[in-house]
Amino acid sequence: MQKLFTRVTAGYFLAGIGGIISFYTFVSLIRPTNLWEYILNMGLFLIGSLIFLIGFYFIFTKLPDERISQLFNQIKETKYCISEGEEPLIDPKRGLMICNLMPGYYCLPLVNRIFYNENSTKISEDSIRFSLLHEEGHFREVQSNVIIGLFKEIVSAGILFSGFLSVISFLIFVTLSLRGNFEKAELLVLIAISGILFLVFFLQTILFLLIWLMTTRTFQTPLQMDEYSSDAYAAKALRDCFGVEKPSLCLREVLEDIMKDFERIRGKKRSFYRKMQYVFKGGTHPSIEDRVEKIEKYIDKKSS
Ligand SMILES: [Zn+2]
Repeated sequence: MQKLFTRVTAGYFLAGIGGIISFYTFVSLIRPTNLWEYILNMGLFLIGSLIFLIGFYFIFTKLPDERISQLFNQIKETKYCISEGEEPLIDPKRGLMICNLMPGYYCLPLVNRIFYNENSTKISEDSIRFSLLHEEGHFREVQSNVIIGLFKEIVSAGILFSGFLSVISFLIFVTLSLRGNFEKAELLVLIAISGILFLVFFLQTILFLLIWLMTTRTFQTPLQMDEYSSDAYAAKALRDCFGVEKPSLCLREVLEDIMKDFERIRGKKRSFYRKMQYVFKGGTHPSIEDRVEKIEKYIDKKSS
């Protein structure tokens, strides 16, 4: 608890410092005196924004709670003794983190971490193990998911970053133009530069968005295959190393719990729910029934 407090406090501290630096430099950006000061302020502004974003990350992610952490470490120490040699079930270098921005469990190859939502832990221990192992499954093989996932992470970062820069350059362009003080040639140059930058960043954002949408559509089938194979990885590990006879029941519990959480969000924010539901159901993930059926058929022990 103590640690968690420090982490969130550090987040607010960084966000505060970053916010002050970017606000202060932004105010100076609006009133430039010469080109070098402008460039210096622009640099400081970007650094301030970066510190702000890091603070944001600290605020919205938390260290895992003890119970899930224990389950995670237990799986890390468990070795696959049947088909995969002496490999640990979860890579010892993998990290675990709470992030409550989305329901369920997810992984980010870029930071080598598995994330989970605190709401998605009110399920049986075996189902939690299933979820963690499913995410590990995504790291395991050279899944199209890892490459496409990494690609999409970069594209998403691109959308955020260039979107952010386009808004900023637009604001700078507007504030510079509104000054109406055109006798200085430098000011005119700055207006032209910020206008061009805005156009470039804006078009770049649109381009990134199109690429992002096209990636999901184009690679829908391989992405869905990755879900099946990560399910299979988790189900086999549960069956062979934790003595769970019907891992399909765990998968059903996990998915129905996540859908319940989406329903809960839907009550609050309908449009957000719709978007998330599309990302979750429509694009990259096969339906609950399809996924459960596959595990039932291929991995569950048949009752005699
Ligand atoms: Zn998955």
